[in-house]
Parts: sequence; C-alpha cells; structure tokens
Amino acid sequence: MSKEKLAILGGDKTIGTPFKRYNPIGAEEVDAAKAVIESGVLSQFLGTWHADFYGGPKVQEFERMLETYFDVKHAVTVNSWTSGLVAAVGAIGIEPGDEVIVTPWTMCASATAILQWNAIPVFADIEPTTFCLDPASVEANITPYTKAIMAVDILGHSANMDALMAIAKKHGLKVISDTAQAPGTFYKGKMTGTLADVGGYSLNYHKHIHTGEGGILVTNDDEIAERLRLIRNHAEAVVGPKGETNLVNMIGNNFRLGEIECAIGIEQLKKLKGFVEGRQHAAARLNAGLQGLPGLRTPSVEPECTHAYYMYPMVLDVDKLGVSRSVIIKALEAEGVIGLASGYANIHMLPMYQNKTAYGSSGFPWSSEICRREVTYAHGICPVAEELHERTYIGFAMCMHELDEEEVELMVTAFKKVWANLDSLRSHVDQ
Ligand SMILES: *Cc1c(COP(=O)(O)O)cnc(C)c1O
Repeated sequence: MSKEKLAILGGDKTIGTPFKRYNPIGAEEVDAAKAVIESGVLSQFLGTWHADFYGGPKVQEFERMLETYFDVKHAVTVNSWTSGLVAAVGAIGIEPGDEVIVTPWTMCASATAILQWNAIPVFADIEPTTFCLDPASVEANITPYTKAIMAVDILGHSANMDALMAIAKKHGLKVISDTAQAPGTFYKGKMTGTLADVGGYSLNYHKHIHTGEGGILVTNDDEIAERLRLIRNHAEAVVGPKGETNLVNMIGNNFRLGEIECAIGIEQLKKLKGFVEGRQHAAARLNAGLQGLPGLRTPSVEPECTHAYYMYPMVLDVDKLGVSRSVIIKALEAEGVIGLASGYANIHMLPMYQNKTAYGSSGFPWSSEICRREVTYAHGICPVAEELHERTYIGFAMCMHELDEEEVELMVTAFKKVWANLDSLRSHVDQ
C-alpha cells in the first residue's frame, strides 16, 4: 500500500469519506433546554443589588456544579470566555499602562482582554514542546511595570505552572490561566486552570464542551470572585448599595450567561470527562502509528500532566525532510486527511499590534503617557513561536472531528504513504 502513487500525483486517495464533524449535543441537552424554555424564565439576572444580582436557578445550579467539578471555591459563568478574560484582567486590579505578559501562541482574546483595560500586552516566547509560555522568556520580559502573567494552556496542555507561579511570587505578579482549550486536564494532581489567581474555560461551540457561546471563571480568592461577579453585571450601579469599598475597575458590563445555556452546560459538564478521554485515546493511537516517521515529532506530555488534544500538535523537521510543510499538507489533504492547520498563531504579528491601533487613530494606549516605555512587537521577539508558526508546526483539529478507530488507522496510513514517497514529492512538486 505505502509505495502506491500519491493522490497528489494522480494516485488513489487513502480516505474516501471525510471525517465526521464533532457534535457533542445530545438528547439530554435538548430536554434541558426545552424545560427552561417551558418555564418562561430564560434569564433571571438584575443589574442592581438585589437577590437576582447573582442570576437565576440554572446559573446557580451550574456554578455550584462547576465548583465541585473543578474543586474550586468559586465558579462564575459569563457569556463568553472572551468576556471572562476581560473580567479577570479587571478583577485582579490591572491599571492603565500596566504590562501583562502573554504568549503569542493563543487565540487573540487572551491579549485583547489586556488592552480592554488600557494595559499593555508584552509577548514572551513559548516552549517548543508544550507551545505554552517559556518561563525563562517570561522572566526576561519582566519590567518595573509588569503586573501579571496571562498563562494560556494552549492546544490542550497546561503551561508550566510551577515555574510561572514561582516567577509571579518572586516579582509580586498576578497570574491568569486561559484554559479555554484544556478543561478537564490535570497539572500535578490539580485541574488545569485552577492553579492561578483566576482561570477559566470557554463554552464556545468550537471547544470541548459548549453551550453555543459561554465561559466559566474559576478562582479560590473570595475578593476576586466577587469582583468578577460585579464586572459581569453592571458593577458601577451595584457597588454603592452593596457597600463595596474597592472601586478599582468597577466598571460593569453585561457578561451574563442565560438560563438555557446553563441548563445545557450542566449536561455538557457531565460528558466532559468522556469527551476528553475519547480524544486521549485517539491521540494515543495516532502516536503509536506515527511514531518513528523520520522528521515528524508527535505530541509530548509533561510528567504528571494530561493533554486534552484540542489540537493534535506535530512538528516537522523540514530541513531533514527536504519537503516544505505546505507540500506535506497538500499531499496529506490529497489523501483525504482534513482538519490540518499549518501553524497556529503569532498574535504579535496581527495588524493591530504592528500598527499599534487599538483605540482611535493616534496609537492609544502605546502612544500615551500611561505607556511608560517603548514596547516592540517586531518580528523576532518570539523566535521559537515564529519558527513553529511559519515553518514547522502542523496541527490536526482533533476537537472538531469525531475519529473512530478505523479513521485513526486511515489517517496513519495516509501519513505513512506520504512519508514513503517523500522522494517523489521532492522531485515532482514545487516546494
Ligand atoms: C476560544 C478561546 C478563547 C475565547 O473564548 P470564547 O468563548 O470564544 O470567547 C480565548 N482563549 C483561547 C485560548 C481560546 O481557545
């Protein structure tokens, strides 16, 4: 089979039927949503200091269930994880012009949540193995203005929390965990996302479990939790009657999640463990099948950690292969493999950062006096992230597809076929 002609060169395709799109919503979610609709109470929040300030029965039930599941003192639901990140940055007391260190290998919201408070994102490089913040680069980027670290558990694996928390302690910084892609995984016996001052998860429909849109904040800090609830629900109208004395960043929003979403979330949370285990099982079979292909690095998992495989990450040694990443991907796609991505992200290279145009047209906040030094987003500031994104990283969108064992085997067959024919790719396809 493997020496057969590649599909990209006119041979037969390995995979005839495209992988099924993942759909985690079942009859339980339908029934739960229906019951809420029939009750007529689709939301029960009031943006005033009132019994309904904390939301209705499904919000309460979901939040208490999340506290048990993630083993935290407080869970606060929000209408997206983007909202959750904004609330988190505000709740920890970030001031305009403060610097927050963040990874460029993330979804854009991890960094814009910082800008929303007129604070300055500073990008540190990533580890080549976990693709999460490199503690040494974080430490090298600390200035007198640094106030926090945004640690992102990217692709499904925890950041190096012991090292990051130690750096934070040494320099008096707060830490936020963006665990959108890794709910239900573990870091040294604790649930990923719960080791920072505040962390949380996305409930967007691209993620492991979803409610369409939604997010979950988790913290063990009573004061941060209450500030999150205030920012979620019109803080400025509530702090007076409630008697809050810390008024820093008490500008409120409507970040409230509805009763239908929370009812769906309750059912989804029951399924999270099984979903993550399914992805771990598929990843283990892929690892076994792909191991030993020269110039291809399969994912690694740090000791005492687990991986949720939001993405199944692979790294190519393109120089050794003598074939570019884009040609490898084209050849795999021709064999019928779908869901492959070349690279992940280099947030610092987005036009907004390159042109420094977040607010208005005059470069605010970077151009204003609140930004106390020149912060650069030039290409070259994160060499590991840039090389992976531009040349060597391939991700398979594991979370988007429901791979059965046969499909995993077909995917392995497609990779082996491409690897057995690298010579013909070198000579027949423009790199
Ligand atoms: C999805 C995602 C977000 C944003 O979550 P939403 O619920 O879509 O707003 C933030 N950070 C990371 C790493 C994500 O993957």
